[in-house]
Amino acid sequence: MKCLTILGSTGSIGTQTLEIVRAYPQEFEIFSLVAGTNVTLMEQQVREFRPKLVVMKDESTSADLSERLKDVERKPEILFGMEGYIRAVTAEPVELVVAAMVGMIGLRPVLEAIRHDKDIALANKETLVCAGHLIMKEARKHRVRLLPVDSEHSAIFQCLQGLPEGPFEDGIPVARWEDGSGEKSGADGGETDFPIETIFLTASGGPFRKATATQLEQVTVDQALAHPNWSMGPKITIDSASMINKGLEIIEAKWLFNVPLEKVHVLVQPKSIIHSMVGFRDGAVLAQIGSPDMRVPIQYALMYPERRYLDDERLDFEEIAQISFEKPNTDVLRGIPLATESARIGGSMPTVMNAANEFAVKNFLQKRLPFLQIYGMIEYAMEQHTVIPDPSLEDILEAEAWTYRLLEEKL
Ligand code: NDP
Repeated sequence: MKCLTILGSTGSIGTQTLEIVRAYPQEFEIFSLVAGTNVTLMEQQVREFRPKLVVMKDESTSADLSERLKDVERKPEILFGMEGYIRAVTAEPVELVVAAMVGMIGLRPVLEAIRHDKDIALANKETLVCAGHLIMKEARKHRVRLLPVDSEHSAIFQCLQGLPEGPFEDGIPVARWEDGSGEKSGADGGETDFPIETIFLTASGGPFRKATATQLEQVTVDQALAHPNWSMGPKITIDSASMINKGLEIIEAKWLFNVPLEKVHVLVQPKSIIHSMVGFRDGAVLAQIGSPDMRVPIQYALMYPERRYLDDERLDFEEIAQISFEKPNTDVLRGIPLATESARIGGSMPTVMNAANEFAVKNFLQKRLPFLQIYGMIEYAMEQHTVIPDPSLEDILEAEAWTYRLLEEKL
């Protein structure tokens, strides 16, 4: 039995993770469930999955949960806030942490989990965007598995299975090349070549794939939330509409697979059937293909390296008939250029880009900011920021707070 903590258990990834746990009760035991404010769903999850520890975002939600669980025999311990998140991921019985909180709030718990030798199933891409250098270093040092849940990164990870000189060994990241350079590292004395030629990161293009800038001026929250293929939480859905999500994923791929940014090539594939592809130095290209169902990458991460039965929809290739590719619309949807620019500058800049995006998306969802101003806010924060090279965790958290202060004032 694998003992799990789920960060973000009430969210889209969290609830789908619990579906898999429900389908395989002999395989998993839940040590801890962690969420923000959705007390109603957490109450149901506690009654069904019987965790030992539950953590909510703040004191009032945890008190509310405690009150609702009054009748439960062997009630779980209930905590709140960052100290609680850290207890949930570092507790001795925990073997695998599913990192599925949304946003940078997940960063400290992920780092602490790795430092306590826990394997990670990583959905929370914002953590790698802001602190990829810290997370990868700690994961290599502690030799923990870092199993991607993001569908594209899971696809790439699956395509790399069996590659003896790849960036992972048994799910544990290894440093074969200088970070991100793709050059010979000399660490093992002989590697002169780079086996991965190109990572083809596929994208659906989102609801505004063909939109003009003028059309985007009038976009409503409901239109931006109407993703054509995937059903996800609100923040990532808006990120997909702005294509910031793809920009974040480029940075996520750079860190996870230890490749330079230039090797990550975005391809729009509107049906979301090819989840990503890897081109190797012999010219072969491997793709992972399947129906757009997040339970596939979640289950692969939970069961790695095994493949177990999943009742997802099987593809009918004759029905699909065609798979088409396009270039992303980067002139109008500027998420990719803005994110890659922040990664090229490096240091604390990706944190500022990410924090500005989190700020802007929150305000767009609250109808306090027009859609196109998401880019405006990111650009403004990046222009104002003085980069801190090689930032520590404290520097990253301070850069995030600085960005929020700056943009509150601007708004
Ligand atoms: P959701 O918004 O659906 O869920 C977010 C979860 O995080 C909820 O459980 C929420 O709790 C919790 N949460 C939010 N803020 C806090 C906080 N301050 N303290 C504790 N818990 C908090 O998001 P998704 O599941 O869609 O996404 C989660 C992560 O996975 C994101 O980083 C996203 O980019 C990534 N991802 C998601 C995919 C998807 O298909 N959804 C695909 C690939 C990656 P509550 O609701 O109780 O407030």
